[in-house]
Amino acid sequence: GTQLVWFRRDLRVRDHPALAEAAAAGDVLPVFVLDPAFDGAGAARTAALRTALAALHAATDGALVVRSGRPEQVIPALADEVGADAVHVSGESTPYGRARDARVERALAVPVVATGSPYAVTPGRVRKDDGTPFRVFTPFSKAWLRHGWRAPAELPASFRWVRRIEGEPLPAAPEVEADLSWASEEGALERWRAFLDDAIDDYDAHRDRPDLDGTSRLSIALKLGAVHPRTLLADLDRVAPRRSAGAQRSLRRFQTELAWREFYADVLLHHPRSAWHDFSEALRGMAYDEPGDGFVAWQEGRTGFPFVDAGMRQLHAEGWMHNRVRMATASFLTKDLHVWWPHGARHFLDLLADGDLASNNHGWQWTAGTGTDASPFFRVFNPVLQGLKFDPDGDYVRRWVPELRHLAGAAAHEPWKADDGYADGYPERILDHAAEREEALARLEAVKR
Ligand code: FAD
Repeated sequence: GTQLVWFRRDLRVRDHPALAEAAAAGDVLPVFVLDPAFDGAGAARTAALRTALAALHAATDGALVVRSGRPEQVIPALADEVGADAVHVSGESTPYGRARDARVERALAVPVVATGSPYAVTPGRVRKDDGTPFRVFTPFSKAWLRHGWRAPAELPASFRWVRRIEGEPLPAAPEVEADLSWASEEGALERWRAFLDDAIDDYDAHRDRPDLDGTSRLSIALKLGAVHPRTLLADLDRVAPRRSAGAQRSLRRFQTELAWREFYADVLLHHPRSAWHDFSEALRGMAYDEPGDGFVAWQEGRTGFPFVDAGMRQLHAEGWMHNRVRMATASFLTKDLHVWWPHGARHFLDLLADGDLASNNHGWQWTAGTGTDASPFFRVFNPVLQGLKFDPDGDYVRRWVPELRHLAGAAAHEPWKADDGYADGYPERILDHAAEREEALARLEAVKR
């Protein structure tokens, strides 16, 4: 009989446990629902989704059916229309995804079969010896490694796509500056192979440098499920024995970064409240400022701090920002502008094509000092020194801030030191970092008292 496969964060056909399960049981009708709950996503997010869906449409020989509406109405109606035996999904662990899936299951006359998840290890599986979930990363990552994961899933040699259902056209693609070809399954695998062949050997040394193309940029593909993390982990294991000791360190480092993604998904599953509230109570009672003019300057990339502004402008243009700059811009909002982290997290989620509730909001909490492994609040990033250290030649700043392109080398980080620093209209600094650092520490002292 017909097996309906409802794609969500798993927009691919390779290494897809739920699709493999469905294909082993019968003919497959692939479906994607344009859920109004996700209306209003930023242009880069929408464009990335469009790219991944177009690729999935092609990979299913045009069988993919796209329909808009509330999933609890669309899925049962479709299942009924084709007389489906079952609805197959990849398991969900987010608060919204779980509630949605429960509603759909209640509205369906046929069973929902959940197989696998968007993670190498399904969130909730890795636990301490006493059965409780981990609250700190390093012990989690060790237990996660010990737990291990299955080999990539294979599709049965032959199965058929059901191709007799009309859908809607794919959503319109907004114009964006970013290269989103990596959001498709083929594009993501191509990017991954190139990265694995070459750049990954230097990952440990280059991953903190936003001026270099030193990271995989697979976060968007992982968010959309254009690639499964297990595929990446299996490849790491495969190539490792032939690499130098230094390169192996880089491979392990990359594996650890994937483990952070899995850790935060696990934390969100066990502590859904941590999405929008302080995970730790360490800073309870902290005085924050309401978002005002400074917040808008931060959003628009005109704080007068070149490294921060470059990051915020990259976010606008590409729907992506380098990790080091995510930390620096988040620190600026929370510790120089004294704004509570959820305001910044909301802005990031709206614009990031890889915007992910678990990774984003816990990444924000890490920076803000309220998270699981929070960097201590008193460690305040200096936005100028961060730039000088991680963008030593100023290339990253000049790429994103045209008003500073006339300043050569590291001078782009300190326009106030050049006679013609502001000649092209770059804004003056909106605050005095040293003074705001003192203010942040004073607020911390007040909490401790
Ligand atoms: P690579 O360095 O190539 O890493 C490979 C993969 O590992 C990434 O694609 C990602 O899936 C995972 N990863 C790496 N670092 C982290 C991390 N610190 N936490 C969780 N997973 C990680 N990541 C998101 O995927 N979505 C977000 O919305 C997001 N928001 C963030 C907000 C803040 C304030 C901070 C500090 C970090 C955030 N991150 C987020 C984590 C990290 O910045 C991005 O995953 C990374 O920059 C993506 O680029 P890449 O794929 O080239 O990373």
